[in-house]
Parts: sequence; structure tokens; C-alpha cells
Amino acid sequence: MNPTNPEPSSGGSNFIRDIILDDLQTGKYQGRVHTRFPPEPNGYLHIGHAKSICLNFGLAAEFGGKTNLRFDDTNPCKEEVEYVESIIRDVRWLGFDWEDRLFYASDYFQQLYDWAVELIKKGKAYVCDLTPEEIREYRGTPAEPGKPSPWRDRSVEENLDLFARMKAGEFPDGTRTLRAKIDMAAPNFNLRDPIMYRILHASHHRTGDEWCIYPMYDYAHGQSDSIEGITHSICTLEFEDHRPLYDWYVEAIGIYHPQQIEFDRLSITYTLLSKRKLLQLVQDGHVRGWDDPRMPTLSGIRRRGYTPEALRAFAWSLGVSKTNGIVELARLEQAVREDLNKRALRVMAVLRPLKVVIDNYPEGQSEELDAVNNPEDPAAGTRKVPFSKVLYIEQEDFREDPPKDYFRLAPGREVRLRYAYFVKCVSVVKNDAGEVTEIHCTYDPATKGGNAPDGRKVKSTIHWVSAEHAADAEVRLYDTLFTKEDPGEVEPGQNFTANLNPASLEVIAAAKVEPGLADPPEGGRYQFERLGYFCVDPDSTPGRPVFNRTVALKDTWAKIEKRGQKKK
Ligand code: ATP
Ligand code: MG
Repeated sequence: MNPTNPEPSSGGSNFIRDIILDDLQTGKYQGRVHTRFPPEPNGYLHIGHAKSICLNFGLAAEFGGKTNLRFDDTNPCKEEVEYVESIIRDVRWLGFDWEDRLFYASDYFQQLYDWAVELIKKGKAYVCDLTPEEIREYRGTPAEPGKPSPWRDRSVEENLDLFARMKAGEFPDGTRTLRAKIDMAAPNFNLRDPIMYRILHASHHRTGDEWCIYPMYDYAHGQSDSIEGITHSICTLEFEDHRPLYDWYVEAIGIYHPQQIEFDRLSITYTLLSKRKLLQLVQDGHVRGWDDPRMPTLSGIRRRGYTPEALRAFAWSLGVSKTNGIVELARLEQAVREDLNKRALRVMAVLRPLKVVIDNYPEGQSEELDAVNNPEDPAAGTRKVPFSKVLYIEQEDFREDPPKDYFRLAPGREVRLRYAYFVKCVSVVKNDAGEVTEIHCTYDPATKGGNAPDGRKVKSTIHWVSAEHAADAEVRLYDTLFTKEDPGEVEPGQNFTANLNPASLEVIAAAKVEPGLADPPEGGRYQFERLGYFCVDPDSTPGRPVFNRTVALKDTWAKIEKRGQKKK
């Protein structure tokens, strides 16, 4: 396996691949393919970033190319080392390797400054004394051209002097900017003399207090691509209008010109993919942290039990296009299920236990029954599960008054206990409130292994654990973090937190799991038969495992429709 390309980047249609193929044919970059993934370290990566990561690394690897990891760290105020570290961890976890090509835009601050000086000398940049509000006012509207800044025609000497003094820290924040001299009447706002540098007396996580002027994203990005020899600079559609500026800078400076290519941003129903809003969820305590299993961050879904293989398969299946759309959450969950189905060990766990006493099973006896570890993978083998006189089954697998379409256990009815025997309910025990607290059954010893020699059938098979052998476990069940398909859709005066789902986390403190799960390995993934895929949470302690439900066994349409939402 090539570490930078765990599987071919095939799947949905991909016009970026066509562009690369074309460039290889014409020899535009002498056969080179070199991409980069350029996160801003101002939050944790989310599933949307996974799409970008897979595209950048996957496409390059497909053509024997390279991919850089570059931190776009041009804004000292919002950036933190914690984010840098989490991003490195997450890209690695997804399965990609940038080898020795880890870069920071801040590595280029001096070069970017020198190029800005050159642009001033060429008469293509000037120091402007307008305040940020004035700059906005002067910029005009889509309907009317902007007004030139009164400082637009400063002499080169004066600009050089003022820019040097900006750098030397002579002026307070917000009092001056360096702007590119392009066209105040351009239909594209990005070309109306965009700001290249602003004054910010702020410490940077890497350059400390060396700088008090910082380049804007647009000024830093293309030049960083150029320095690194990037061929295809892939980004999301909102940067389409910035491309003329990207092109203008590299042309005006006169350096190697990479090609910016835009693709559609990933959006998923019931999910917010915005670092700023995710930060708010963390800061305001709506979730337990960036790695809360309900979060769409890579750390969150990793803890939830999603696999990198499933995410990559999902990302490839999306393809790329030139219009933004929205992808059903069910599609992501299906990708996770398909992957886990192949590898998750099957086990039995009872979330809401109901005690079952087998009246005709000898007191004090127990036996070990064979259970299949994974029907999808014969190599996974079998294991022994203990059976005894007192068992637990799910409360919902018994009804005293079963409705017509209910085929599980009920008084007088016989069902199969998975891997064990046929049992028949003979009586129930109730508490003072009239609730069933215990049921009594008889078992048929001739049905060991789950089949009757006389050929009689039962309509259902239910899971169980042996009371005396079972381990206690905490189980956390998750629902979507938001109740609305579009979490951003709110009444006037509300914000997206109004759509938070109060039932997104359900903690089951007293579940029972088969004894082999008392101390499960970190990172263990299981299918709890009939209940879904689960993984071991790091909150587990010896003898007290905690499991997260990664995904239910079937998709959630039934539930979503019940909420009155329309299915697309
Ligand atoms: P956010 O809006 O969540 O803060 P961002 O675009 O500001 O995201 P960056 O750190 O600048 O985040 O993004 C790094 C790369 O990931 C960029 O190339 C960006 O286009 C891409 N990216 C970000 N969000 C998505 C998404 N939802 N789908 C696809 N690519 C994305
Ligand atoms: Mg950004």
C-alpha cells in the first residue's frame, strides 16, 4: 500500500482529474503534479476538510505527485498550537503522509514582505491611511464603482518609508494598510485595491513578536503556492471570485504561476461544517469538547468510531462539481456501516435489561455456547458465550400484550435465543406498580445451537447475556446534534443553537455486555447484535467499559420522517 494513496481516488466524476490529465498531456508543468492542503489553524478539522484532504492527497498520489501540508497561519489572533497539533494528528489518522513537506505560511513572511516592497517600487502597491470603515465605504457597491483612496497616488519613496515604519511598529493597529493598486471600478470587488497588509500588534504562535504587520490571506496564499511549486491549487468555490486576484499577484510580482481550481464545498444534512460555529459549540458548553462524538470534527467522529477507510470511501464517492449541494447524512452513515460490517466483531449486549429465569435449567449450572465472531469474515472464527439459568434480554423484546405484528417474546410464545436454545415464556413477575420485572421461561434442551430437530419454527431470534457472567457497561447513544436538516435555518433573532437537538445524547448507565467485553481493547469496534455498531470510548476504566454507538444498523429515515422532516 502506498501510504499517500491508500486506495485509488475513484468514484464520483472529477473534472479536476481531467484538468490534471490535460496538463500532463500538454506538459504544462513538465509532468509534475504537486498539491497542498492549506488549513488555517483556527479550529479542528471537520468532515468537509476530509473531502479536501482526500482530493489533494489522492489526486497527487494517483499521478505519482506530491502533497504538502501547509498551515495558513496569517492571522495571529485566532490561531493556536493546539489546533496545529490536532490538524497534524487528524490528517495522519485519515491515512495521508506529507513526508518532509510540512510548511507554514509564516515561513514566508520575510519573502512576502520583500515582494510587497517590490510591488511598491513597481507602483503597484501603496500605503493607505483610511480606517477600515472608510475603506469599506470607498469600495462602492456592486452597482457603483468605488472611489479612489486619497492616498492612492503617494510617491514610491513615501510608500516605502511608511511601509517600513509600519513594519517597525511605529503605528497603532488599524491606522494604515498596504493596498494593491488595481482598479477601484472593477466589477469584481476583490480587485478594488485589496488590502495586502494590516497592522496587528499581536504575538504569533511561531514568529512571536517579530512582526506587527501581517499579510492578508489573498496576498499570502498564491505566493506560498508559488514558492512551494504547487501545480494545482485546489480550493472551495467561495474562492472563485478571488482567483483573478490570485493571478494578479503572481503576475505582478513575476513569479511561477500555479493554477487555482475551485470545487464544491461539502455540506451534510443535520450537520454544521464551520469552524467558527463549531468553536462556539465547544466554548458555550453545548458539547463536551472538540472530540465530542456528536461533533462533525475528525476528532469527534474518530471517537464516535468512524473509520478513516469509511471516510475516504465516502469522500471519493462524492466526486467534485462546480455547484454547491447538500449530501444526505444517511449516505455518510451508509459508508460507515459498509466498512464496519466487514471488520466489526459481533457480540451480544443488552442495553435495557429484563431478567429472564429459565425454570427448567439446573440451578448452579452453566455452559459455553459457540458464537460466530463475524459472518462476513470466516477468518474471525468463533468464541464461547456462557449460558445459565438467569439471563437478561432487552425489555423491548418482551410484551405482555403483543400487538398483531409483534413476533418477539410474549406469554405462551416461543422464540430463539441467539446461539442458544428455544425458550417459551410461561409466567411473569410484576412489581406493585404492575410493571413486569422478571419473566419465567422454559427451554428445550433439544434445540441447542438454535434449531429444533422436529423442524418447528419460531418467528424471531433475540439476543441475551447470562446474568451471572455479564459485565456492566455504560453505553452512549447518539442522535443528530441538530433537529433541522439545515441547522442554519432559524427564526429571526435566533441563532443556530436554537436548532440543537436536546436528545442528541442518551446515556445508558447500566447496560449488560457479554463477559469478553469487560475490558475491551482501546479502539475496539463491535457490532452489538441487532443494536448497531459500537466502539470503546476512552472514558472506559478497568471492568467498567464505556461504548459509543457509532451508527445504528439501519439508516435513520424512519426516525427522521417521524420528526416531520421531508426526505429528499
Ligand atoms: P470553515 O469555514 O469550516 O472555517 P475554512 O474554509 O475556513 O473552513 P480552512 O482551514 O481555510 O477552513 O480550509 C482548509 C481547506 O479545506 C481549504 O482549501 C478549504 O477550501 C477546504 N474546506 C474547508 N471546508 C470545506 C468543506 N466543507 N468542503 C470541502 N472543503 C473544505
Ligand atoms: Mg478559511
